[in-house]
Amino acid sequence: MPEPRDRTRPAMQRFSFLSLIGHALRGHAGWQQQWRTPEPRPAYDAVIIGGGGHGLGTAYHLAHDHGMRNIAVLERGWIGGGNTGRNTTIIRSNYLFDESAALYDHALQMWERLSRTLDYNVMFSPRGVMMLAHTHHDVQVLRRHVHANRANGIDNEWLTPEAAQAFCPPLNIAPTLRYPVLGAALQRRGGVARHDAVAWGYARAADALGVDILQNCEVTAIRRDADGAVSAVETTRGTIRTGRVGIVAAGHSSVVAAMAGLRLPLESFPLQALVSEPVKPVLPCVVMSNTVHAYISQSDKGELVIGAGTDAYVSYSQRGGLHVTTETLAAICELFPTFRRLRMLRNWGGIVDTTPDRSPIIARTPVPGLYINCGWGTGGFKATPGSAHVFAWTMAKDAPHPINAAFTLERFRDGALIDEAAAAAVAH
Ligand SMILES: Cc1cc2nc3c(=O)[nH]c(=O)nc-3n(C[C@H](O)[C@H](O)[C@H](O)COP(=O)(O)OP(=O)(O)OC[C@H]3O[C@@H](n4cnc5c(N)ncnc54)[C@H](O)[C@@H]3O)c2cc1C
Repeated sequence: MPEPRDRTRPAMQRFSFLSLIGHALRGHAGWQQQWRTPEPRPAYDAVIIGGGGHGLGTAYHLAHDHGMRNIAVLERGWIGGGNTGRNTTIIRSNYLFDESAALYDHALQMWERLSRTLDYNVMFSPRGVMMLAHTHHDVQVLRRHVHANRANGIDNEWLTPEAAQAFCPPLNIAPTLRYPVLGAALQRRGGVARHDAVAWGYARAADALGVDILQNCEVTAIRRDADGAVSAVETTRGTIRTGRVGIVAAGHSSVVAAMAGLRLPLESFPLQALVSEPVKPVLPCVVMSNTVHAYISQSDKGELVIGAGTDAYVSYSQRGGLHVTTETLAAICELFPTFRRLRMLRNWGGIVDTTPDRSPIIARTPVPGLYINCGWGTGGFKATPGSAHVFAWTMAKDAPHPINAAFTLERFRDGALIDEAAAAAVAH
């Protein structure tokens, strides 16, 4: 039974056309703060480490679905400042294996109504995600995806090069290309969303349900009691007692888990993205090529948003090698000759934590009271709503939701891998 709303806290202001007019007439002086800036309490029923989309979403679902109110999200920097605010926002659910397809399509279905759920425009734009095949092997792999997805009730269709170009006119399908386009798999329900808005929308909705969002609050240690269970976290803003901790720290998952004596099967790599100067609408969909390691879409501001591959070595530096972006841009220029004259505006990097099978871990851990949501590698943004929903379930019930039951830590010991590794390649 959910606890009643704290009446000392104002109800979340609803956004609507009428409220916009009302506030405009009052000089926009009456807008509420989106979320509070509270001081840490000495104890919480649950603590989430990491204020990205997954962490904030988990806190929202713990409060909304499971009636918990005494929750804190601890973020060492600012919310959305990690990979949530650094990614290229590609959303799709056309993964190969049944377990992945169920997880990512659960998320995609939630994306389709997320703006309404949160009363916050996350600018989800299902403009279609097209994945290019450049070799005979690519054709076989992507057609296998199409068949597997359709057997799972997930939309995915095979396009000839001409149909691919009709869907995306700037695409070069000349047979003389070094990596010619031999066809494409298209998921029409896939697309992009506004990354910051996802973090802000979840933060606002979670705060309205009583969740404390503590920014500039880095977790430095995880304390365990005599039985080995989690008992507290040490932070740069003091000690916080709690018996339930969820680690949702993306590129720093291993570092944080090690604070509780837990070793994770993860490697962390830099991954880069860059944007061009803004231009008028020119690219109507998302295009990905795993073979030439490039993917591209156009933001609502007009910038071409381009993603590269990961660096070849592990690192915690939030910047990658120049040669990686150079190769990506060469591939983009070959696929889209009209983009050759564009100048690049800025680039940045994030740290992605990757598992050996390139599928996430969303699970309990051997440490009582400690839960982990990590290993999303280069492709976790698309899963944000679904991941948050099932992870909150796992934390609240101390048992997995049927959708994340296979995404355990133990699969790396037992061999029950969900091997999207070769299937997914750069996988965004
Ligand atoms: C360049 C790039 C492009 C990408 N493109 C795509 C894409 O197109 N589609 C897609 O689906 N995915 C993509 N991804 C992956 C995606 O961004 C991530 O999988 C996803 O955003 C992870 O979300 P999160 O909430 O788990 O992590 P984050 O948003 O990184 O949140 C984790 C938070 O934990 C905090 N933290 C870490 N350590 C501590 C500590 N000790 N104490 C407190 N807080 C701590 C960090 O500051 C961070 O804010 C991309 C990633 C990158 C870097």
